[in-house]
Parts: sequence; structure tokens; C-alpha cells
Amino acid sequence: MNMLPNSIEARDIRSQMPAVADMRKHEETGSLVIERGEGIYVFDNNGKRYIEGLAGLWSVAVGFGEERLAKAAYEQMAKLPYYHIFNYKTHSPSVDLAEKILSMMPFEMSKVHFASSGSEANDLSVKLVWYYNNALGRKDKKKIIGRIKGYHGVTIAAASINGLPRNHESFDLPLDRMIHTSCPSYPHFGKDGETEAEFTERTLQELEDLILKEGPETIAAFWGEPVMGAGGVLIPAAGYWEGVQKILKKYDILLVADEVICGFGRTGKMFACETYDIVPDILVLSKQLSSSYLPLSAIVINDKLYQVIADESHRIGSFGHGFTASGHPVVTAVALENLKIIEERDLLGNVQHLSPMFLKGLEDLAEHPLVSSWRGIGLLGALELKPAEKAGVMGTKVADRMQEEGLIIRGIVDAICFCPPMIITEEQINDMFAVARKALDLVAAEQA
Ligand code: PMP
Repeated sequence: MNMLPNSIEARDIRSQMPAVADMRKHEETGSLVIERGEGIYVFDNNGKRYIEGLAGLWSVAVGFGEERLAKAAYEQMAKLPYYHIFNYKTHSPSVDLAEKILSMMPFEMSKVHFASSGSEANDLSVKLVWYYNNALGRKDKKKIIGRIKGYHGVTIAAASINGLPRNHESFDLPLDRMIHTSCPSYPHFGKDGETEAEFTERTLQELEDLILKEGPETIAAFWGEPVMGAGGVLIPAAGYWEGVQKILKKYDILLVADEVICGFGRTGKMFACETYDIVPDILVLSKQLSSSYLPLSAIVINDKLYQVIADESHRIGSFGHGFTASGHPVVTAVALENLKIIEERDLLGNVQHLSPMFLKGLEDLAEHPLVSSWRGIGLLGALELKPAEKAGVMGTKVADRMQEEGLIIRGIVDAICFCPPMIITEEQINDMFAVARKALDLVAAEQA
């Protein structure tokens, strides 16, 4: 790439370590500079427009440039820009948001605690699971089961639960209390000739075998995204979540549902726990909670956990956890306004209304010679591409070409993933898939 020395691209290379990138490649190619956003679109520093087909990082539910959120931030900043919730202090924005979240829960939950990222919320959940078992005198019940292809973040505990080798390799992870079971996505992980029912049965058997091998008295919790996102939009097989919950109950293992991507309407219900009849002990939320206008995450815990944790904090004299930004007033005020927008504009209704045509669009694209299959739910989906000679390169290749054509999505291994802002319209979905098809045609022509 030809860059002027004082261009943002060149200054970025000189000053900033990039996220999720080959740094040597970054030094050569630089990054795309995004300057502003409006609705489902973002614009680069040359004024070129892109459809944001991944809503940023699966998060900008209400679209870009939403004035109401800018105003909510300004007003709260002018009134009380910062305060904390340590040492018996609080403020109304975080109380209002905690109440709002509890009121939206499809099942009985007890308390909310805020953090700034999905990773932190997952790390905190790990700490709570350990704190809980220590309080109950179960000193050995500490292991956590994650899943192959699962993603929960990049802090030490969260990254350890991930089932993605790149989050472990050279980082000295996973921690040895974190173990992994099979990915529940069918037919992706099915064996030749295996029916979905057989696949579910085998996957559940593998989970139970792992628990028995390790010893149920050593297993504290099971971690799962209702639909796996960053692993490549992997949809659980029918019967999977019902079976998992039966096994966890049998062995007294807590369930943590990570709805960082799925929460707030993405799968066609307000929470994916409703989509799959999941009743977790801890629910982890982020992303669409604030549409990522400001960094925010939340954990929601049930009363069974809360009562034990509260007693333990009383015994010790204090709960030794809290972030400077736990419940930050500006961030929580913006998130509350964001949830109001989601409700007032009935974005959940929009997802339900548009989902059939979104999924049909994926199904139609699955006929393309470069595509082998499609999968999706709500407004979340993926196309599995036929691998090139070297597996794992097609996702990035096709994603790069789509970007050139004005559509930003995410290439993950040999899949490309779609997760547009929930404000998207029928016409815009058609536009998005038209660009996707054109880019696929161009890659196919190159390969011919
Ligand atoms: N959990 C899930 C399911 C996620 O998708 C992500 C981020 N993609 C995280 C946790 C981590 O969130 P963050 O990047 O805010 O730390």
C-alpha cells in the first residue's frame, strides 16, 4: 500500500499495536481507516461507503450516528460525569439500568453487576463461581468446561474458556482449571452419515464422559454462548441445550450463558436463552446492551448464587471486587437510552420480520459455486465456503473482496459471517446480499 508518511494509515502503523492481526502484515498493508457512520453504513477516510454487515463487532444494534445516544452521554456527563459504586455509594443511571435489565429477564434473576467488556464480565463470572464454591466449602469444585469453538474474550480466564487455539497459543493458556468439550454445531461437526439426533446424543455423551472422567466433584461450571458467534456463527443441534441442562443438574454444575452477541434481540427473541429454553445461573451481556457506543458489559446472577456470595462477603467483611468503571454513570445512561430505542423502534419485531428473508438470502447464496452451506438464526448467519487448497483461507479472501466492493463482514476460517445492525431494512438486506454475490462472483472468476 502506498501511504504518505503523515497519513493516518502510516501513523497507525508507527504508533499502534493492532488487535487480532498479523502485526508484520499490518506493517505492510496498514488498516482501513473508518471515519464516520450513519445508519447501517460506515465511511472511510476517502469518503467510500460500506454496509456494516457485522454491526461493527456484532454490536451496533441501533446503527451508527444515533443522536439520542450522543445526547444522553452529553447530558449525563454534564450532570455527573463519573462516580463509582464502591463503599456504599451508588447513582441513579446504574440503578435504572440494573432494574431495566432485571425487568427484561425471561426468568427470575436477582442482581446485576456492570463491567466494561465481555471479557471482564466473563472473568468476573469465573471469580463468582469460585467464590460461591469456596463459600459452600467445596474447595475442589473449581473446573470450568468451555467448548471447542467457544469464545468468551481475551482476559486470562475468559480466553482460557475459549475453544480457539489462537487465543491460547504462546499466551501460556488455558489455565489448568479450564477444560473443553465438543462443539455442538450440526452438521458442521457431524460425522459422515450421522443424523442430527445421533449427533446430539454423541455430543451430550462426550460432555457427560468428560465430567465423569474429571470427577463431578471437581467441576464448577459450564460456559456457553447459546449460538456461538466468533467461532463462526455455529448453531447448536436440536435437543442440545435441553440435554446439557439435564446433565448439569445431575452433577450440580452451574450454567453460565454468554449472550454477549446473542442478547437483546439478535436471535429473534429478546434473549437467546428464550430461543433455546436455557435457564442459566449467570447471564453475561454486552455489545448490543449499549450498541457499543460506550464500553459496557453486565452479569446477571440468580438468587441462589447471590445469597451465598452475599453471606461470604459478610463473613469476610467485604466483597473484594469492583471496577473503577463498574456501573459508570455516562455509560449506563447511554445504555438505558439504547434499550429505550430498541424497544420504541421495536427492533426485536424488525428482526422477527426480516429474519425469514435474511435466512432465505443466505440460502440463495449457498447455491453459489464457492459456497458449500449456510446457517443462521434471527439476523445472525454465515456461509460456509468450499475450502481452497489450504484450509482456512477462504473466509478472509472473500471478506477482503467484499470490503473492496463496499460490504464489511467477517471472515472466520472458511466461513463468512453476517450480523447487520438490527435497524436494517428489507431493501438494505437485498443490497447487502447483492454486494456479497458480486464479490463471490469476482473471487470465483479469479480462481477460474
Ligand atoms: N463473549 C462473547 C460471546 C463475545 O462474542 C465476545 C466478543 N466478541 C466476548 C465475550 C468478549 O467481549 P469483549 O471483546 O468486549 O471483551
